[in-house]
Amino acid sequence: MDMRNEKQMKGKILIVEDEAAIREMLGYSLMKSGYAFEEAADTNEADKLIAEELPDLILLDWMLPGMSGVDYARRLRGKPESKAIPIIMLTARGEEPDKIRALDMGADDYITKPFSTRELLARIRALMRRSSGEKKEGVVKVQGLTLDSDTYRVTANEQNIEISPTEFRLLHFFITHPERVYTRTQLLDQVWGQNVYVEERTVDVHIRRLRQTLAAHGYDKFIQTVRSVGYRFSSS
Ligand code: CA
Repeated sequence: MDMRNEKQMKGKILIVEDEAAIREMLGYSLMKSGYAFEEAADTNEADKLIAEELPDLILLDWMLPGMSGVDYARRLRGKPESKAIPIIMLTARGEEPDKIRALDMGADDYITKPFSTRELLARIRALMRRSSGEKKEGVVKVQGLTLDSDTYRVTANEQNIEISPTEFRLLHFFITHPERVYTRTQLLDQVWGQNVYVEERTVDVHIRRLRQTLAAHGYDKFIQTVRSVGYRFSSS
């Protein structure tokens, strides 16, 4: 088997996890599924690996020695070179309320330990498919709001807007499906992917973040809440 071809096909995943046994288990599962991977035991090691080559996705443990996974996710989102890398947070049972915080800080998804390899791989596939699928769609514009799927850039009247990959996908879906109300479940299916088990309130968290991001430029009013149904994008 040519590992370079495998890598090109499926991408490289960076595992940031301080427990060697979990790193080993994750690495083994990824390798068996055809992904290339690298391992870091803390955020310093992760920084070095990211500086060498950007991974296609990061599995990021919540509880790390030194800087926590959540703070690290926020830092990655703050840098132009790493802000578009999909991040899945690995959380432990008992950290449930913090999942919302993980998403607020820039993670795209989270999975609670102990998790099944199958579930994790399904989520990795969904995130990878989304980030590669969007690359073909190019630029969309609505009233001075521009989304470029090749670069993940959003601009409002030529001004750059900082946005996470999940908010980007959500906004992209809305802009390309305007004037129609979508339920949380429909948005989960369309934006997060089918067969990915994410709670419905996750949608609310991301809608809130998206509105906060757009509010600075006056575009938050485009994202409308339709009471007891869901959300709609309307520029009219
Ligand atoms: Ca840990």
